[in-house]
Amino acid sequence: MGKFDAVIIGAGAAGMFCAAMAGQAGSRVLLIDNGKKPGRKILMSGGGRCNFTNLYIEPAAYLSQNPHFCKSALARYTQWDFIDMVSKHGIAWHEKTLGQLFCDDSAQQIVDMLVAECEKGQVITRLRSEVLGIERDENGYAIQLNGDTVQAAKLVIATGGLSMPGLGATPFGYKIAEQFGLKVLPTRAGLVPFTLHKPLLEQLQVLSGVSVPSVITAENGVSFRESLLFTHRGLSGPAVLQLSSYWQPGEFVSVNLLPDTDLDELLNEQRNAHPNQSLKNTLGMVLPKRLVECLQQLGQIPDVTLKQLNTRQQSELTDTLQNWRVQPNGTEGYRTAEVTLGGVDTKELSSRTMEARNVPGLYFIGEVMDVSGWLGGYNFQWAWSSAWACAQDLAGE
Ligand code: FAD
Repeated sequence: MGKFDAVIIGAGAAGMFCAAMAGQAGSRVLLIDNGKKPGRKILMSGGGRCNFTNLYIEPAAYLSQNPHFCKSALARYTQWDFIDMVSKHGIAWHEKTLGQLFCDDSAQQIVDMLVAECEKGQVITRLRSEVLGIERDENGYAIQLNGDTVQAAKLVIATGGLSMPGLGATPFGYKIAEQFGLKVLPTRAGLVPFTLHKPLLEQLQVLSGVSVPSVITAENGVSFRESLLFTHRGLSGPAVLQLSSYWQPGEFVSVNLLPDTDLDELLNEQRNAHPNQSLKNTLGMVLPKRLVECLQQLGQIPDVTLKQLNTRQQSELTDTLQNWRVQPNGTEGYRTAEVTLGGVDTKELSSRTMEARNVPGLYFIGEVMDVSGWLGGYNFQWAWSSAWACAQDLAGE
């Protein structure tokens, strides 16, 4: 039976980073994953370029029942610390938009960096491994694997959430939490496209692929200003993904398709200059033509010239374009979600070490717990920061 100071289950972002940091601090670490390669989500992330952190990391960008929980770890291992590591490995990166940092080249570089850091920490990695059972006794944890049983003083669960089952996601972490009596908050898909009810979906089919800058607002008042993308299933794009984490089934969302335009001013100016110009052509100056045509066919944009447009029509038009109320049918679910909301209740964990308060030596890091970030590198930063906090404790620092 192999004996380790720490066994870490899940060789994703949090698990690999924690293993590397604890190993380099002197712990004898075993890292286990059910997949045939480590960091599978990292490889898929950011369109293959991995949006590995964000310049503007702040606790307000995280959803959790306890909004204060993430503060300590984010402050102790920051985006600047991770950027420093990426740069030391000679990985070139750039800011795409809104502080989002991507590799210039490939997400593989981040996985290679983590593998190299694990090697530096003499971490032993076992891939394609199923954990069949875990028991705790006075020596720590006995982890039964397919083949043998390993013993560790400390056990770290880094098995992530439920999103993208095709990439190895399992409810393993939640089951272990429950086995040891920790509360798990209900989970649901986050950062996920909306689906639409049939009549509306069919009406908007022709818009599939059209993207517009927008401000989209949830019923609780949270709003995001980013682009919205019409898809053949419903609505997507960064604005929608962000908002989906704040949306509850049955609620409406309100969309401003012209966040940068004073519509009344535009219409009044154009009417003075070109009274015979069609409303459709005027709106085509500020909106994609396909969108204007579709809305006209649906009767949402009257087929009139500017001088024919009456006050009531103008105010209805402003409402349609700047306060379009949509009731999503649902979301695309875990199949395409970037994160899982909910998970191991942070009340059960120390925000300084990620250790379970009532189960000595048992830790949860990364997405498995009830901390989820916005789109844009926030989730990886949580993986790095929570992993680092845990690694310090594993190594007794
Ligand atoms: P994961 O990275 O999911 O790692 C969990 C690991 O545990 C996996 O390797 C899995 O195989 C393993 N595992 C699961 N169950 C078991 C088991 N029973 N036994 C053994 N091993 C198990 N976030 C960003 O910040 N920026 C991005 O650009 C970004 N892009 C994304 C793109 C996609 C397509 C997806 C799905 C997510 C993206 N995210 C992004 C979110 C980010 O990937 C996750 O928040 C992050 O990977 C969470 O890290 P983690 O280590 O907690 O979990």
